Amino acid sequence: MGSVYDERPWLKLYEGELPAEIEPRHATMVELFADAVRTNPDGLALTYFDGRLTFAELDDLSNGLARHLADSGVNPGDRVAVYLQNVPQFAIAVLAGWKIGAIVVPLNPMYRVHELTKILGDARPKAVIASELGWHDVVGGVATALGIDIAVTTSELDLQTRNDPRLFAKTERKPAAGTVDLLAVARAHSGERPPEVAQSSSDIALLVYTSGTSGVPKGATNTHGNIVFNAEGTALRLDEDTPGGIFALAPLFHITGLVVQFAAALAAGRQLDMAYRFEPGVVLDALAEHRPAFMVGPSTAYMALMNHAEVTPEHFASLKMVHSGGAPLPSAVVESFRERFGLYIRNGYGLTETSATATSVPLGKEAPVDAASGTLAVGVPTYNTVLRVVDEDGADLPVGEVGEIVIEGPMVVPAYWNKPDETAAAIRDGRLHTGDVGFMDEQGWFYVVDRKKDMINASGFKVWPREVEDVLYGHPAVREAAVVGVPDPYRGETVKAFISLARDSSATGEELVEHCKRQLAAYKYPRSVEILDELPKTATGKILRRQLRDAARAGE
Ligand code: AMP
Repeated sequence: MGSVYDERPWLKLYEGELPAEIEPRHATMVELFADAVRTNPDGLALTYFDGRLTFAELDDLSNGLARHLADSGVNPGDRVAVYLQNVPQFAIAVLAGWKIGAIVVPLNPMYRVHELTKILGDARPKAVIASELGWHDVVGGVATALGIDIAVTTSELDLQTRNDPRLFAKTERKPAAGTVDLLAVARAHSGERPPEVAQSSSDIALLVYTSGTSGVPKGATNTHGNIVFNAEGTALRLDEDTPGGIFALAPLFHITGLVVQFAAALAAGRQLDMAYRFEPGVVLDALAEHRPAFMVGPSTAYMALMNHAEVTPEHFASLKMVHSGGAPLPSAVVESFRERFGLYIRNGYGLTETSATATSVPLGKEAPVDAASGTLAVGVPTYNTVLRVVDEDGADLPVGEVGEIVIEGPMVVPAYWNKPDETAAAIRDGRLHTGDVGFMDEQGWFYVVDRKKDMINASGFKVWPREVEDVLYGHPAVREAAVVGVPDPYRGETVKAFISLARDSSATGEELVEHCKRQLAAYKYPRSVEILDELPKTATGKILRRQLRDAARAGE
């Protein structure tokens, strides 16, 4: 006898709307893109300020870069790392990698040497594609140290015609020795085709580094099948009668940006509007200029847009559907967004390991709010997907009971890259153990109320206490360190460090913050440091991080 989850009560919520099950239309992203080019060669694929690329142009540029990479020695299965903001070259680089059967490793351009050394050391890419500045400041040194000799760089200004001083004031062109220019090589091979490579849906398309449920950075192996499934699923939700593109509010290096924006835009044959990185004033101008129909991003992005001094309902007038994911969405934000702009923000939940989306709010429905906790539901499982709430032994719990959420579906990654133990701990029999804690109501809506894992969620950017603690331990004055998440009105959560100092040592909180800033992406350094004589520990000497977290949250 199956449990309540096997009965899939949520299917009733889909009735009269979309099918509960879908069949993928393409095996790989390469096939999916080829179809988009065939169907609509002269349609706009990308906009970037005043810059524009059609599907045919995007195809030709990515063919040219693919040819260059293949000629340089990148073979099927090799990794190609991409360190870029939301710029058209990101799309060209990813498609070029896929076309020659390479595995693309998207990197957060906020990562510093410390983080890149770990990730690139694990992924061992054959080639790196980076912005000129990123190469010069951070990536070049790491790539050289690791012996990566195929390097392509690009100026992130090249495919736009109007420089926006709010974004590019500090940017100046720096030649990158030992690298080739992305657009120059792509254009030099214009009209050529890359070598044909047989690919299937089970081939890995992306290695997306996440700390997953255990805090150790590891590459989620998102296959072509995983991505195609969620991209086509998202595209299906976009009403065919509603024209308009997808605005890239989320960063493209994050799985949400890559799949729900980029891959979904290709699946829907719609244009993707990019604006470098999230800057509220710039985003509002771009929305007014490009008039997209769909947008997805973390709740904190909606809060920042809503609170911008110059925002008017006109900025959002073209949008038909807006989605939030990657971080908790407070119901108050949904309500005030609706009141002021007439738009309902649809919540969605997922992980890097589920190739972004695993739940969504069915069209024509609204997510309920749990009366007891005030938590807004994250939605119901998307097509062909089952979520369960399980106990410590993995057994299904009844309706309303709180436990760990596990996910089964065609978008769950098969494994972590070269990490059999981590894989076995999180992904068993096709079930992903999320480390998120929640429950399901009678209708089949899911609610996320807590986490088993120690992750800190700062505006959808994930911070792992262990990584920040390791950096703190690298400071000679630190004896003990514990890093926790504390509530923050703008970011949702932010990073706080508790420290005890080594005997006869001294360091101020500011010095420790500076120490972290030098080594970590900007969203990870502690926003506050509290120095204690001693950190609380268990009888066996383990620091009680949870106790410190709860005390910090309670404002003690
Ligand atoms: P990532 O791998 O960066 O996509 O992070 C996945 C994690 O983000 C999940 O395990 C959740 O903890 C959190 N998350 C994603 N979507 C939501 C949501 N709608 N509400 C609350 N937390 C979310």
